[in-house]
Amino acid sequence: MIDSPLFPELKAYIAGAWVEADDGTTFRVTNPADGELLAHVPALGPRETDQAVAAAEAALASPPELATRRRWLQAIDTALRDNQAELGRILTLEHGKPHAEAQGEVRYAAGFFAYAAEHLDTLQPRTLAEQPRGCTWTVHYRPAGAVALVTPWNFPIGMLAKKLSASLAAGAPAVVKPSSKTPLTVLALFTLLERELDLPEGMANLVTGAAGPIGDALLGDHRIRVLSFTGSTAVGQALIRGSADDCKRLTLELGGNAPFLVFADADLDHAADQLIANKFRGSGQTCVCTNRILVEEPAMDAFAEKVAERAARLQVGDGMAEGVDLGPLIDRSGYDKVRRHYLDAIDQGAVPVLGADPGPLEQDFGAFFPPTVVRGAGPHMACWREETFGPLVPLAPFRDEAEALGLANDTELGLAAYLFTGDDARAERLIPRLAFPHVGWNTGSGPTPEAPFGGTRRSGYGREGGLEGLLEFVETQTVPRGQPG
Ligand code: NAP
Repeated sequence: MIDSPLFPELKAYIAGAWVEADDGTTFRVTNPADGELLAHVPALGPRETDQAVAAAEAALASPPELATRRRWLQAIDTALRDNQAELGRILTLEHGKPHAEAQGEVRYAAGFFAYAAEHLDTLQPRTLAEQPRGCTWTVHYRPAGAVALVTPWNFPIGMLAKKLSASLAAGAPAVVKPSSKTPLTVLALFTLLERELDLPEGMANLVTGAAGPIGDALLGDHRIRVLSFTGSTAVGQALIRGSADDCKRLTLELGGNAPFLVFADADLDHAADQLIANKFRGSGQTCVCTNRILVEEPAMDAFAEKVAERAARLQVGDGMAEGVDLGPLIDRSGYDKVRRHYLDAIDQGAVPVLGADPGPLEQDFGAFFPPTVVRGAGPHMACWREETFGPLVPLAPFRDEAEALGLANDTELGLAAYLFTGDDARAERLIPRLAFPHVGWNTGSGPTPEAPFGGTRRSGYGREGGLEGLLEFVETQTVPRGQPG
């Protein structure tokens, strides 16, 4: 069982108090590296979710001043940085990613609170220079209402930080529902919120438990005005359908299928380094990691060799062990998917460059999938059509720009893309035609707190990070003021 100074309580948090499920039920959280039981966490249901929403709604009655919100955001930034080693340890134990990477995620999360504090004046009311209709016009950014924040397991604290920083910035009280696979890092964050901040009761609530009943309760509750969700496209689509009656505002950060284009005129060593950093973070379980690597034919042999050389050096193992680069996949179903994609690619003519079928997994933990590289991938393969979410690098050749563009855009998902070329004019030509809101130009970098990030098409909508992200949880209210007499 996990033991931590950040767990004086292993409970959910509603209206400023730690709570159990009404019926006392719990669910198990285990370590994906070795299956060890880490904790029993309360399995709340619709009734407790209703209480959390009521607490959030009640907190709306006293909207916090901008200066108060800035103080909260700064305090969370500091608390996360001060506790990054312990938060990172908890994150590694429940997720599997290497401890150094987990601490990097904690710093990434802190960055969203720091950025929101720094740019909070964006939400100050503004008075228009124009005075149409003889009125003075002021635009206010009010809290949108009580909001729900639903987050996935792949970045347990990073994904929540994007949402919670913006909801606190807006003064919108939140009900947080973390993934049942990785609730512990979020629970530790709530300990810090309670310990280090003076949040009013109900401003931040944590409901843990099965997604179905909690999700339905949040979706069906008219008091929740914004539901911000990061997760799979299938669940996002269900949320769109379920939110229609209420006209609830949704922010949806869904799956990705990022192409990584390498032209023969690119610096191939740099491109290979960036590919490794991009593809193997979180063992390939990130929405922005590349799924399809498109390489101009004359560069294919050299690039495949450079990638394979680098990937072969990566150490796979328990994320708490020294020198490990890749932890286990989250569970057996994640492992089965990567293995299915690999076998399907080989079956359909792809050629292994690095790695071989690691065989079926007998149990639901220890899903250590080795870095794997194949050549000859193409649009008919599962690894092309679906998000693999694992350390499989499928290399596909292209002949010219037109073919590269066609292949890159051959997906319903629109999140991130990467383009490597030594020709600036080519990049300027191609970037506007790549159907992805995030395009790394000679970099495999994903999002950062300072810049807006989000999807299009079946990768969802809404933005997190940057000034745009600060507007996700506000309602604009416009007040024209007349001059009587
Ligand atoms: P998921 O199965 O869709 O779950 C995401 C969250 O939603 C979890 O908290 C889950 O709870 C909850 N959930 C599941 N069904 C729900 C429902 N019917 N109503 C309300 N909530 C529900 O996704 P995941 O497997 O955790 O995450 C991986 C996916 O997230 C990938 O597709 C990845 O690309 C995507 N992702 C996207 C971004 C982005 O920025 N676009 C970032 C990170 C991840 P339980 O865990 O309790 O089931």
